[in-house]
Amino acid sequence: MADASVGRTRHQRPEPGQGAGPLAGRVILHVDMDAFFASVEVLDDPSLTGQPVVVGGSGGRGVVAACTYEARMFGVHSAMPSSVARRLCPSAVFVDGRYHRYMEVSTKLRGILESVTPLVEGISLDEAFLDVTGARQLLGDGPSIGADIRRRVDEELHLTCSVGVGRTKLMAKLASKAAKPVATRTEIRPGRGVVVVAPERELEFLHPLPVRALWGVGPVTGRRLEALGVRCVGDIAALPAGSLERYLGAALGAHLTALSLGEDPRPVVPDQAAKSIGHEETFATDLWDRDDLHRHLNRMVDASTTNLRQSRLAARTISVKIRFADFTMATRSHSMDSPIDASPAVGAVAAALLDSVELHQGVRLLGVSLSGFGDPDAGLQLSLDLGPAMSEQGGGASGQNPSSGGWAPLDGEAAGAHDPAAGDRLARANDQAARIQESWGSVSAAIDAIRARYGGSSVGPASLVGPEGLRVRRRGEAQWGPADDQGPPSNDGRAATL
Ligand SMILES: [Mg+2]
Repeated sequence: MADASVGRTRHQRPEPGQGAGPLAGRVILHVDMDAFFASVEVLDDPSLTGQPVVVGGSGGRGVVAACTYEARMFGVHSAMPSSVARRLCPSAVFVDGRYHRYMEVSTKLRGILESVTPLVEGISLDEAFLDVTGARQLLGDGPSIGADIRRRVDEELHLTCSVGVGRTKLMAKLASKAAKPVATRTEIRPGRGVVVVAPERELEFLHPLPVRALWGVGPVTGRRLEALGVRCVGDIAALPAGSLERYLGAALGAHLTALSLGEDPRPVVPDQAAKSIGHEETFATDLWDRDDLHRHLNRMVDASTTNLRQSRLAARTISVKIRFADFTMATRSHSMDSPIDASPAVGAVAAALLDSVELHQGVRLLGVSLSGFGDPDAGLQLSLDLGPAMSEQGGGASGQNPSSGGWAPLDGEAAGAHDPAAGDRLARANDQAARIQESWGSVSAAIDAIRARYGGSSVGPASLVGPEGLRVRRRGEAQWGPADDQGPPSNDGRAATL
């Protein structure tokens, strides 16, 4: 079915790499660490070398976050339920994730990449696009820059990465995938390290790939395309113009048609600041008790506001998200007139939001998210603030930021919209929060100073104090689901990339 020849496609396109416009002649790199979390674990504990290591939640609802190639030989892969991974590979060594450690390595990686070019767009902790078009004069062509990055990652981080080089983000990303090591049932084949897709060979490279290789093709669209007999990217390119648009809708159809022809105009956009800060977590067992939920919410608010203040930010919009046992979701949000950063102020609003949700069944996941950032000292914000609905709409069909922990309360309702009592409670919480914020500034600063000096568990909200002292966890720890023998972990949902 694959048809790699340009002649038979019915779409017109310029010669690859020859297109006009500001993006012509670009050279983009996609750098992707190999089995990142798992490799960091092996690096820090050499006794794990050569073992099938799985990083992720070991509890009943745990998910594989990463695994070594030795584990992949058994068919284990990331995003797989840990229970399935254990069945496929009974000898697997499960390791809890250490988010702060991965952040640390990621920051070093970032330093290496930014020494090549400031045009670095982080996709996740271990993955980034670089536009090296302008860097080539100084540093050599794309492939040699890629090889140089690999050498530095090896020497400075003692880890390996794969690099794809292409004219577009699409090509660079697919090329880095082709550069990766491959685990089969019997062996681990070393990767090529750097794969270059030359502009004139794009379609030859692209068309035999399965349709799922394209951004925007998930399982559902994949099945719909298969029903049409469309299996590889070349099949899409060979469809009569307009047919995919009719079948999948104008936007997705046009998007996939363009990608199938190697057209991807998206530039590398250097990272911007995080758009939301928050925490969310999936509980080991569903929670029914409202007091329990408030206690968890309090802890998440406390962790999130600490983060917020460390970033020298304050937030206008507070959102609470609940996922019920049947996976239905409720989100509620409220925007203050002025940004706030004091934990009890944010907590008052979050609590009212939580109370506005009817708990008709057990709660599987609870989260809080702070957005609509402003300067904590700026007082009243002007209307330039985009608010959460606008500010979190990035990504979309491009699917560029799958690991972003941020979530938009787009489908949420204003709390109290249908319940006057909840509306009153929220109005009271709003006033209370504004009062607390006014009087709490120096207290927050004192708490942060004590924590900086004596550690995160030295001070915390009274409701978090248990028999063993405070239950404050480092952000992001065990974020892939709780182990059976632990309480619910903290899952940092901060939407920061790389
Ligand atoms: Mg990776």
